[in-house]
Amino acid sequence: MPEADPAAALDLELLRKYDRPAPRYTSYPTAPLFSPDTATEELLESLRAESADSSRPASLYFHLPFCESRCWFCGCTTVITKKRDLADAYLDDLELELDLLRPWINPAQPVTQLHFGGGSPTFLSPAQIRRLGAMIHARHRLASDAEVSVEIDPRRISPEQARAYHELGCRRASLGVQDTDPRVQLAIHRFQPFDETRRAFELLRETGYRSISVDLIYGLPYQTEVSFNHTLEQVLSLRPDRLAVFSYAHVPWMKPAQKILERDQALPSPEQKLRLFALALGKLTAAGYVHIGMDHFARADDELARALRDGTLQRNFQGYSTRAGASIHAFGMSSISQTGRSYRQNTRELPAYRQTLARGRLPIERGLLLTEEDLRRRRIIMGLMCERRLDFVSLSAELGLDFASTYAAELASLDDLVADGLVRRLPGGVELTSAGVLLVRIVASRFDAHLAREATPTKRFSRAL
Ligand code: SF4
Repeated sequence: MPEADPAAALDLELLRKYDRPAPRYTSYPTAPLFSPDTATEELLESLRAESADSSRPASLYFHLPFCESRCWFCGCTTVITKKRDLADAYLDDLELELDLLRPWINPAQPVTQLHFGGGSPTFLSPAQIRRLGAMIHARHRLASDAEVSVEIDPRRISPEQARAYHELGCRRASLGVQDTDPRVQLAIHRFQPFDETRRAFELLRETGYRSISVDLIYGLPYQTEVSFNHTLEQVLSLRPDRLAVFSYAHVPWMKPAQKILERDQALPSPEQKLRLFALALGKLTAAGYVHIGMDHFARADDELARALRDGTLQRNFQGYSTRAGASIHAFGMSSISQTGRSYRQNTRELPAYRQTLARGRLPIERGLLLTEEDLRRRRIIMGLMCERRLDFVSLSAELGLDFASTYAAELASLDDLVADGLVRRLPGGVELTSAGVLLVRIVASRFDAHLAREATPTKRFSRAL
């Protein structure tokens, strides 16, 4: 694996040149290609076929969409409400969905990963969290070393909720912070004094959470290098195990609430955004964090950093992961499931999700069956995203073809990236340079057969940095 030297990668001119829209490749093919025309029966048959192998692990995801108020930058699929009983009805729905999926999966499959995301999982009361846990444990067998994690809103976490998720098995938590500057917080409609974040952090540590990650966002209104530097210093004082430093994706045509952020004309320019990213990269690596890829950082002794070193890193809908080869069964509105050969997404609106379940049908809205060529290209793109290199000999053996001649056109298309120092050609392969690691989405997109056919991919995807 090529060693990344982030300090050497900070050529802003170069980053600016390639800071263009590109997929994040949490899947390949990407979610915009999932189609409502893909037959649900075929998607489920692909799931059943895969589940026959009881040694294949499963990863469960539960989308808990409720939030008490809307953060104006938010790109998640949410339901904004203060009505707690909506969560009871939603748990009824999840229970139905768990039961409807049962005939298609193998209960003997060990669950190696379980994640609660949202929305805000902390919208649920302790009793609702316990009910959710009982529903899952009654139907699935968690591996003894399963990784169980939850997204926490530090503004709305009580000791009882922290304990309830801990009882359910959660030992990892990610905290939404975004920025600690009150002016930025006011502009994004998310007021969260740093003391509140610190208290949530301490509560989770005291309750027994072993790994805590913090989510930040750069590119928000009123952020400056001075203010973001302060945010980074405050967050680093908590010594999180991991950090995710996301680029704010401004897509008001998809998320109308984001339009409000244009009001003060205080959004940083692309140039300022790059400087904020450069600041975070330099500061976090100087503090001993390893840049895992894209927006993810981890302490050098964290298992993500070890997986990067060992070449066993994985990528899925939740970002980077260490658990390989699992079927992802996702529950709840808008959630995306993955088998080795298919993707399927649930309906994104709560009423439709509920009505479909009430009719006794799984709420699958769209999906995709992968072709053999999709499977090959997914392997190549994930190789770039996780291993940062393509080894022609091992890929030829794995894919059963001559890699260099089969993908000659794609490899030739890397010429400009080679000339600009993002990609290095080796005798039997190619590898990303330090700068290429920062722009891995751009490099990977050269192997994306679907993107190559799109006339205007720019509106679908956020910029690379
Ligand atoms: S950022 Fe989190 S808390 Fe805010 S609206 Fe989005 S999901 Fe809810």
